[in-house]
Amino acid sequence: QDEYRTGGGLKLEDIFIAVKTTKRFHQSRMELLLDTWISRAREQTYVFTDEEDEALKRRMGDHVVFTSCSAEHSHLALSCKMAAEFDAFLASSQSWFCHLDDDNYLNPQALLKLLSSYSAVWDVYLGKPSLNRPIRASETLPNNKTKSVHFWFATGGAGFCISRKLANKMAPWASGRNFLSTSELIRLPDDCTMGYIIECKVGGQLLSNSLFHSHLENLQLIPSTQLTQQVTLSYGVFENKLNVIELSGPFSPQEDPSRFRSLHCRLYPDTSWCLQPVGW
Ligand code: UDP
Ligand code: MN
Repeated sequence: QDEYRTGGGLKLEDIFIAVKTTKRFHQSRMELLLDTWISRAREQTYVFTDEEDEALKRRMGDHVVFTSCSAEHSHLALSCKMAAEFDAFLASSQSWFCHLDDDNYLNPQALLKLLSSYSAVWDVYLGKPSLNRPIRASETLPNNKTKSVHFWFATGGAGFCISRKLANKMAPWASGRNFLSTSELIRLPDDCTMGYIIECKVGGQLLSNSLFHSHLENLQLIPSTQLTQQVTLSYGVFENKLNVIELSGPFSPQEDPSRFRSLHCRLYPDTSWCLQPVGW
């Protein structure tokens, strides 16, 4: 049974993909993801948001989870969603947990290829380090003292994955209400809390992988010929400029500002709307 979950035997169905969003991005960000990569990974993708939305529900069915988390950009609200994602994974029978933001493009086949070189029965934590050194934090101890800790963490905005074996070990700190209390101990965002639990509590370590990308790096630097091999990509604003991947077409930057539709057409040219640009 373990052998089935390793190496070449891994299937897309073995991966639980969680996307974090919020009500004000349902239209502007989620529609784009649903039109593109989610259409190729529908069965294993779950969206975690904060407000009921009929339009989103119609497109995602029971794959949209309306959490009772607040729609604020506070550490607590974001940790609440991460906790909901993690709990949903623990309750599933899948072997890998992958988290994404709603401004990420995921290439499911590239992800499958990457995870196939690891085993979900090992402790695996894969992603892009947020900093080029471990982060230092101060952990609150029960006696009101503090302890200085340092650890690596994968930036949530580039997506990251955790194996089932490691996730099970994390449960005492990351499941249910525990995630929020752990996050309060170090008073840092949800992605840092994941790194803290993995590196400081269960003795795992981040494996840095260059196929994960956030909009905190210059996305223009990824060679066009290598875009289709990346596991995640993103778009956004970086140093006051629009930060997107460099891709000549088929859509113009006006039609496709994120470049995700153009990338999707490179990966899946058989998609109906790839034959002619939308609006022709
Ligand atoms: N987000 C959220 N609640 C908020 C703001 C943002 O759940 O109040 C989510 C958003 O949908 C995205 C992630 O948090 O998946 C990161 O948000 P964003 O890209 O806007 O900010 P960044 O941190 O990348 O600048
Ligand atoms: Mn972002």
